[in-house]
Amino acid sequence: MNDEELTPHFEELKRVLQGKVDDSEIMNELKRYVNDFHIAPDAAKRGILRKYGALESTPFQTTVVKQIDDLTGNEQSVDLLVRAVYVEERDITVRGSPKTIISGIVGDGSGTASFTVWEKQNTKMEKGSVYWLRNAYTKTWNDRVQINIGNRGSIESAEGETVDVPDRVITMEASECKIGEITSGMSNVTVTGRILSTEERNVMVKDEPKTVYSGMIADDTGKIQYSAWENFELKEGETVCIKNGYIRSWRGIPQLNIGERAEISRVDDTFGTLPDGAVTKSIGEIVRTGGGIDINIVGTIVDVRRGSGLIERCPECNRSIFNGECQSHGKVEPVLDLRLKLTVDDGTGAVSAIVNRELTEVLTGTTLGAAEGLAKAKGSIEPVASEMAQKIIIKRVSMTGNVLSDDYGPMMIVKEAAIVEEDVTAEAEKLLKTVEESI
Ligand SMILES: [Zn+2]
Repeated sequence: MNDEELTPHFEELKRVLQGKVDDSEIMNELKRYVNDFHIAPDAAKRGILRKYGALESTPFQTTVVKQIDDLTGNEQSVDLLVRAVYVEERDITVRGSPKTIISGIVGDGSGTASFTVWEKQNTKMEKGSVYWLRNAYTKTWNDRVQINIGNRGSIESAEGETVDVPDRVITMEASECKIGEITSGMSNVTVTGRILSTEERNVMVKDEPKTVYSGMIADDTGKIQYSAWENFELKEGETVCIKNGYIRSWRGIPQLNIGERAEISRVDDTFGTLPDGAVTKSIGEIVRTGGGIDINIVGTIVDVRRGSGLIERCPECNRSIFNGECQSHGKVEPVLDLRLKLTVDDGTGAVSAIVNRELTEVLTGTTLGAAEGLAKAKGSIEPVASEMAQKIIIKRVSMTGNVLSDDYGPMMIVKEAAIVEEDVTAEAEKLLKTVEESI
């Protein structure tokens, strides 16, 4: 198994071991068990937990039943009897593989919380129905508890059980906030911003034609995509206050929905000139707040990961493949492409970055043609990645793109990238001058 395939197992071990064992040690153990000893991942995980004395203390046996209001965000295994207040299925990509998850809001007599079912499989959930969430784990996001159902958890229908969710806990006060502060964990918001663009699209919703009105809205801290089912006749350049909008996320990127309860008013524009293009953020900030659009980061390339360099793609579906074999299309004549999968760190955190061919050529100075030539000469595509890595590893890079975010952290789809040349001579002269002055 490669790193990508091992990652979910690694994450699970990490969660159970709760920082008692170094990340790298966990990964090395996992590789040893799975790749060297050819042990199935589930058995390997049990073996590793046993090795660190964690199997007895794992939540396999010790599940507690709690009410939503009593959740702390640190539960490893908890059962909850809830009513589904809002449910949606979404297709996401986790480390390059598509999967379907269920997310939404559940409530009980004590409150409501957002939830995610990470392994959908045969799970069906309906708004209004009552369920037992078994073996769930929790996390906090912006001081709010989130309920997660991973591959150890399950959803059981609990029809017949009575769960009343008081209206008042569903309706959350829309707090006024800056667009740059909006995160995917938020629910209702009130924002003021300038309409940058407008768009009308006709879509089919449950076999009915509908028009969705969408576009971009920005203030001095950032921009966000908005959408509405109603035509508010928003015009480019005007400034509006949107009261009671709600946030839904698409792959970790928050979007502002103008729903039935929203109110829109035209207001005076006090922004002046809005920042043109991308907003620069620290990676720590991104890790904390989730994804976003048009974000710029500057950091050091600390890793060129597996899957970088010269890769094969399926001519039918464009997915990356190995040895000319596509999971969906079988044996195909592969199309060669260049790609970089980087880990970029700026001292406040790390983000993965996917770099397309064009920018890979720019960053590494290696064209697709040259890469093919190298592969031919060496008789393998492997040396291309190491050759490229040598040119860019530990260099500083400035990158702009959309940042997606999932259970495994943030990932930038890079739209612009450049190596930041550090002016060594100027730095040396400055240092020398300081030294001379102090003599
Ligand atoms: Zn294919």
